[in-house]
Amino acid sequence: MKIWTVANQKGGVGKTTTAVTLAGLLADRGHATLMVDTDPHGSLTAYFGLDPDDTQPSLYSLFREPAPEPAALVRATKTEHLYLLPASTALATLDRQLGSRPGMGLVISRALARLATQFEFALLDCSPQLGILLVNALAACEHLVIPVQTEFLALKGLERMQHTLSMIQRSSQKPLPSTIVPTLFDRRTKASVECLSQLRERCADRLWHSFIPVDTQLRDASRVGVPLSCLAPDARGVQAYGELLETLLGTDSNRHSDKTMAVAEAAR
Ligand code: ADP
Ligand code: MG
Repeated sequence: MKIWTVANQKGGVGKTTTAVTLAGLLADRGHATLMVDTDPHGSLTAYFGLDPDDTQPSLYSLFREPAPEPAALVRATKTEHLYLLPASTALATLDRQLGSRPGMGLVISRALARLATQFEFALLDCSPQLGILLVNALAACEHLVIPVQTEFLALKGLERMQHTLSMIQRSSQKPLPSTIVPTLFDRRTKASVECLSQLRERCADRLWHSFIPVDTQLRDASRVGVPLSCLAPDARGVQAYGELLETLLGTDSNRHSDKTMAVAEAAR
């Protein structure tokens, strides 16, 4: 099973949208795909029509004794091949309850290991808060996707994420590859264009070569409760996430059409 975590210590940057849309595209291709909601706000859970205030069992159960079999927590969605391990708001109490009890950083990793024969992909959606859940999500994955909203203060959240990442890598001794994904890009705004060129200057090595444009249909899809690719496979947002998926899968034949570079150049 390939495990990807979508995280940034800033809210509203497109984390949940990125997790849902990539997972939807994988499911469209027939891959058994599990989305894991590790955010106590439960946006991903709510996206699929469940109420995080009233969802049991949820990811929270894994942190309790006796923990259930992870498979018992997984729900089917309306979309074929697409499954959800939901969050509940009780997750917000975990840091206070567990403190620094040993072994708690690997709960999600161990649960996913038990699901490895059932799913080809797992995508973990995260809260912007640094705590036991983000630590779990980073420890469990083999690749980190960092959506960065292309706006003026974007680099602040990225710096914080970078700091967390180096802290975690120091303790685990394991390098975690990451891809920075510019999101909500609007080429008519100065903020978007400038942010992209700053990203290009500061983190070119991990920056995805393209960007996710503003596409209001992504917002509309969250109201219907299915990934946008199920509603509008030709939408701009779906096309862009499709390109991102190719990059993450390492099957990208389009690396040289470097849109980020082109836009950054145009901004000079
Ligand atoms: P996060 O999980 O980082 O808090 P979300 O994915 O929930 O961010 O996105 C925040 C809001 O922006 C949501 O209303 C979402 O529908 C919207 N959104 C995200 N990405 C896009 C996009 N590319 N175009 C238009 N709206 C978007
Ligand atoms: Mg979210």
